[in-house]
Amino acid sequence: MNKDYSKKNNIRRDILFKLGLSDPVIDLGEKVLEEIKDKFEEIDAIAEYNQAKVLQAMQANRVDASCLTGTNGYGHDDIGRDTLEAVYATTFKTEAAIVRPHITCGTHALAIALSANLLPGDELLSPVGKPYDTLEEVIGIRESACSLKEYGVTYRQVDLLEDGSFDYENIKKAINDKTKLVTIQRSKGYQMRPSFSVKEIGELISFIKGIKPEVTVMVDNCYGEFTEIIEPSEVGADMIVGSLIKNPGGGLAPTGGYIAGTKKCIDRCHYRLTAPGVGQDVGASLHVMGNLYQGFFLSPTVVAGAVKGAVFAAKVYETLGFNVLPGSSEIRHDIIQSIELGSAEAMIAFCRGIQGAAPVDSYIAPEPCPIPGYPDEVIMAAGAFVQGSSIELSADGPIRPPYAIYFQGGLTWEHCKIGILMSVQKLYEQNLIKL
Ligand SMILES: *Cc1c(COP(=O)(O)O)cnc(C)c1O
Repeated sequence: MNKDYSKKNNIRRDILFKLGLSDPVIDLGEKVLEEIKDKFEEIDAIAEYNQAKVLQAMQANRVDASCLTGTNGYGHDDIGRDTLEAVYATTFKTEAAIVRPHITCGTHALAIALSANLLPGDELLSPVGKPYDTLEEVIGIRESACSLKEYGVTYRQVDLLEDGSFDYENIKKAINDKTKLVTIQRSKGYQMRPSFSVKEIGELISFIKGIKPEVTVMVDNCYGEFTEIIEPSEVGADMIVGSLIKNPGGGLAPTGGYIAGTKKCIDRCHYRLTAPGVGQDVGASLHVMGNLYQGFFLSPTVVAGAVKGAVFAAKVYETLGFNVLPGSSEIRHDIIQSIELGSAEAMIAFCRGIQGAAPVDSYIAPEPCPIPGYPDEVIMAAGAFVQGSSIELSADGPIRPPYAIYFQGGLTWEHCKIGILMSVQKLYEQNLIKL
């Protein structure tokens, strides 16, 4: 090795030592990185395409300086808000979109989309198994006041087949006169199942609309945005839904959610979010518009960094002998990396590593605890600029077998890498792995 390189290498190690990393962990990282470098080119190509797509949408909708300031009060004629909704609609190739700071989280956005488009006597179908944990109370799978069930909306579910594929035969049987809306979750949520590609989602939608053309299809797009060059709205989804403190907020959105889709569906969502008859014309954007625009602009590259981190995490933990989903060589459809750690103890150590790598609250040691909307205790590591933001470096998971941790985010690839290495460091210090 040449002298300059080794000197530079030592300087680099010094700063990593200061963060708490040790030689064997850094060495593992170097080795793994060599093995996955070619994957990074594919990820960069997707980012470049999506960067151009967002830029084109901003130009086509004539975003200007007046869009970046906010309104107060009723928010009538809020040009920034209305233009941002047009930018989302252009990017996602939909007729309309609702993008608002008043949507408090992803669950809220999904609840609006569902309750706006389902009426008493209608049936909701999930053809991809159990939906995300917090939707159980929205739907009424777990009892809750104001659930869809309480309003007389029934629910049916068809589980995935053993190998994670769609059970077309039983999906066909489940579609009936009452079936009004079909919900498809793109990302795995807290389950050890594959996330779906947009192409797979498109095939499922075609199958369903082949049986019942008038059915409305909603895709829970959380964590999926900009991981591929097309979105589910381009393959037949009537609505796609997500959170602004995940991918499309690019780390800068301080709060909010979006729904993009057909004008018919989105108009109803506006009426549900505000009030019947009032709809989209109110909703002051206060002071968040600049961040929502800039975050959306940065999102394709932030997502690319997070995807690189996920691939790196997969390869590191594969190398250590853990079961990971997806595998390091698989194509990505979201930013989530799950790792079956096998024990609550290992989940805690992992999260403490991620937390220890955070820019904010790094000295806090995460503990499992109950969280509203979730059935099991959940452990979460997130030392984020935006509270609970999971486009920032974060890890979480319910404390239940198979004790899988779900790792995601990282505003930069470099931060992802340090975070993953810190998680390994904590497992190593606790004697939970050998190096
Ligand atoms: C994050 C997420 C949601 C919504 O969660 P919030 O915490 O309410 O934003 C819904 N579905 C999936 C698949 C998710 O990952």
